[in-house]
Amino acid sequence: MVGSRRRPATDKKGILLPVCVVCDQTPPLGIAGGILVSGHFLCTRCEEEIVRARVGDSGYCQIKEKIKKIWRC
Ligand SMILES: [Zn+2]
Repeated sequence: MVGSRRRPATDKKGILLPVCVVCDQTPPLGIAGGILVSGHFLCTRCEEEIVRARVGDSGYCQIKEKIKKIWRC
């Protein structure tokens, strides 16, 4: 990692295209395809994953680590 901060891009219509903090991707719906948590964007797919994730699941630790970034700020 180079440590460069990616800024959310905007399209020509001025719609904010946020980048999900968990999967690092922009949903097709843009800001409408997710929620903002403490100023960080979380796409619906990851939100669902977090809701479904249970302690002990293989992906749980990974998700938890990424969410920590949000709660810390
Ligand atoms: Zn995501």
